[in-house]
Amino acid sequence: MQFEPTTTAAIVVDMQNGFCHPDGSLYAPPSEAAIAPVADVVETIRAAGGAVVYTRDVHPPEQFDDTHYYDEFDRWGEHVVEGTWDAELVDELDVHEEDLVVEKHTYDAFYQTNLEGWLRAHGISDLLLCGTLANVCVLHTAGSAGLRDLRPIVVEDALGFIEDDHKAYAVEHADWLFGETTTMDAIEPVSSPTDE
Ligand code: ZN
Repeated sequence: MQFEPTTTAAIVVDMQNGFCHPDGSLYAPPSEAAIAPVADVVETIRAAGGAVVYTRDVHPPEQFDDTHYYDEFDRWGEHVVEGTWDAELVDELDVHEEDLVVEKHTYDAFYQTNLEGWLRAHGISDLLLCGTLANVCVLHTAGSAGLRDLRPIVVEDALGFIEDDHKAYAVEHADWLFGETTTMDAIEPVSSPTDE
């Protein structure tokens, strides 16, 4: 999968202690195992001059107190509560000053956040999505990108998940709905610096 660095961002979804650390509230070993592959994706995009976006799932303790229907705490239990260690990005990932860190409050990193405006302002149209959980926040964010006429490409071997078939579902549906997924080894810039 060749990408154009000037119009591409890596979207790293929810690589937080709550999901990726053994002491996290919604820890799943495959999410921890995704840390190294996700770091590799970031490095590939960054080295080529592409943008890097990290999303953080963050829930104020009272977020779902008065909701009509959408209640993640009811479904998942309390997780990544605002201001807690659980909600911090894992230490292993390298956040640079020029990266965007998006605080999201639902499965969809575009919903009521600054993500779309930031991408448009930076001329970014193509997104390489990785992170966790594959079938929840990665897939919903990929779908939301596609609905905005951005190009979502899920990196299938840089995903965290709870069950293997959740990941298979996410990759299959990202491919089916939007027509593109890729693997880490296949990601390369259209023209690498060494070509010049
Ligand atoms: Zn959540």
